[in-house]
This record gives sequence, C-alpha cells and structure tokens, in this order.
Amino acid sequence: MTPTQRLRALSERHSAHNYHPLPIVIAEAEGAWVTDVEGNRYLDMLAAYSAVNFGHRNPRLTAAARAQLEKVTLVSRAFDHDQFGPFVEELAALAGKEMVLPMNSGAEAVETALKAARKWGYEVRGVPAGQANIITFEGNFHGRTTTIISFSTDPDAKDAYGPYTPGFRTVPYGDVDALKQAMDADTVGVLIEPIQGEAGVNVPPSGFLTAVRELCTANRSLMIADEIQSGLGRTGTIFAVEHENVVPDVYILGKALGGGIMPVSAVIADSDVLGVFKPGQHGSTFGGNPLACAIAREVVAMLRTGEYQERSRVLGAHMHRRLGALPRDQVRQVRGRGLWAGVELHGPARPVSERLMDLGVLAKETHETTLRLAPPLVIERDDLDWALDQVELALQRSPR
Ligand SMILES: *Cc1c(COP(=O)(O)O)cnc(C)c1O
Repeated sequence: MTPTQRLRALSERHSAHNYHPLPIVIAEAEGAWVTDVEGNRYLDMLAAYSAVNFGHRNPRLTAAARAQLEKVTLVSRAFDHDQFGPFVEELAALAGKEMVLPMNSGAEAVETALKAARKWGYEVRGVPAGQANIITFEGNFHGRTTTIISFSTDPDAKDAYGPYTPGFRTVPYGDVDALKQAMDADTVGVLIEPIQGEAGVNVPPSGFLTAVRELCTANRSLMIADEIQSGLGRTGTIFAVEHENVVPDVYILGKALGGGIMPVSAVIADSDVLGVFKPGQHGSTFGGNPLACAIAREVVAMLRTGEYQERSRVLGAHMHRRLGALPRDQVRQVRGRGLWAGVELHGPARPVSERLMDLGVLAKETHETTLRLAPPLVIERDDLDWALDQVELALQRSPR
C-alpha cells in the first residue's frame, strides 16, 4: 500500500463521508503549490474555496501568527485584549462602516447577520413580534446550520434536516420583479451573494445589485451582502458589490479573513444595526480571539496595499481571455470575475477534475457540471498559464 492509499483508507473508515475529496493526501504547501505525501507537487486552483486567497503560508501572515503565538492566544470576550480594538477599528474602516462583530466560521457570521436583521426589525423598524421575514435567492449557499439550510434550494444540503426555521422567502437570483413581489412591510433584510460561489460562480445580470440596493432602501430592509467567498480581493476589488458601486447595509466576511490559518469571520455594519446586541444577547467563546485578530489585522493591512486586488484583476482578465477561447463543444459557458471562474461543461465535471489532478492541477467540481477555478491571488502568471494548459488538455481528453 502506498502512503496515499493507507491514509485515504483511514479517512474513509473513520471520517464521516460528508465530502467526496479527490484521492490526494497533502502534506505541505507554499504559495499556490501543495505537495502530497509521496512528494508530488500540484498547483492549487481552488485555494480552499477562497480561504487561501493570499497563498498557503503567506510569510506576512505566518509571521503575524507566530508573533502573536508568543504573546496571548485566547482570553474570551470576558476580557478585552490589545489586538481586539485595533482589529475592529481597522476592519470597520476597510468596509466604511462603524462596527464589527467577530465570529469564527462563515455560517456563524451569517447566523449573526440574520439575528441582527431580525432584532433590528423588531426594535428599530417596529415589525410586529415574530413577523419578520428575510428574503434569500435560489441557488444560495450561506453555510450549513439548521437555520441556513432552511432556505437552501439544494436538496443535498437541505433534505432530511427538518423541521426548518420559518421566516424566509426565496426568489430567483437576478429577478428584480420577483424580489419586489416578495417584499412587504415585515421584510427586514435581503441576504445576497454578490456572485453565487457554490452555485457555480453565478454572476447576476448587470444592474441587479443596484436594483436590490434600491428596493431595500425603498422598503427599509437591510441589504446583507454575504462576501464570504466573493470578498477580500477575489474579484479584483475588496468587495464584489463594488463592481456596481453598491454599498450594502451589512457585510458578512469569512474565509480569506483568516489568512488561510484560522477560521475568522465577521459581520460589519453601522451602529444602528449592530448596536441592537446588548451584553448576553449574542456571542462566541472564540470569536475575536487574539490570534484571530492578529492574523486578520494583517489581512486587512495587505488588502489596503491594493496589490492582491490588482493581481486578481490583471491575471483574472488573462484567465478569462483564455477560458473564453476554449472550444464551444467542450465548454458551454464561462462565468466569473477576477481570478474566479465557473467553467460550465456539457457533461460531468468530476472526471475532468480527476484528470486535472493526474496532470498536477487541483480544482474541484461544484454541482454536476461546473469546474470551479479560484487560484490563490499570489499565483505567478507562468504557473497560471501552465494550469490553463492542463485544463485544455483535460478537456480534450474528456469524453462528451
Ligand atoms: C463558505 C461560505 C459560507 C460558509 O462558511 P463556513 O466557514 O464554511 O461556515 C457562507 N457563505 C458563503 C457565500 C460561502 O462561500
């Protein structure tokens, strides 16, 4: 048995089968490259669904983590610590808002935003008790908690987990009229991915985010942008809503905020919204811990340079030019923005990601027929070109 087979067998036997990973076992990583237990190198074209935007073990981020490990790592929110104030101040400033509520996973931050919107609805907007509704979109992915999957439209994510949390209405993504129809006096928020990641990198029709903003303003509903996957440089800007110059009431961040080291998430809004939480009304033992704050502060500082957004714009335009030139009999459609692409195939994407692995490129299908490409933003242009050469090869060998 090879080391890979032995380790894969352990995972198969003792891990719940809630994922279907490619048959590779990674032992090391640096930048855009990973090395498996046999010493084979692969170019990472997934970047942990954008959690590794700054590359594996980015030296600035590991240095920040290492320095903080030598000081203090966890105090809980029962006490303040010297990384906390600067972190919330710097992240709020990055987003142009007043307040931050830090959590850990993305799903927790989404839950936090939903709770904030409901509480804001009752206490600020005057919605009758228990009547608040929040609008979400078909194809959404906001995490895996019981409440969040209650408004999922993906049977795999939702089925057999009921009874479901009420209070959500779901309309087609990109459909302004449907959104308008669904809104009423008790609509406290609209939860939206500016680009739907898990659904296959779905970019909404031009003008849609603007229309959502206008409808939310007119209806006094909070526009809540889930930028967990689309934010922090992925599309060439800090936030994907910037492509339409839209400012939501609430941002939700996660994934890359932890620098590929720690789970760090946050809800960012003005004090009229986040001010609804009083002591004891919401919290998290690990949320806003010193190690997380130190790493996320470095992430914020790196984004302020604009360097990563620029890389995503320039290399992303190049990637999309090349993907756009792929033969139409192999590729149905290419979607995305910046260094982020959903390559819609005519058939199953899994065999293509398996062939890509054999060619030394790690990418992953999302749903049946979409190949998702989201390399770390630090990827070198030559490496990107090499990866795209392998994508061409893998598609050529793909039976249709
Ligand atoms: C990944 C993701 C989440 C959930 O984040 P977790 O850290 O996995 O809980 C929520 N929303 C979007 C848009 C995501 O891509």
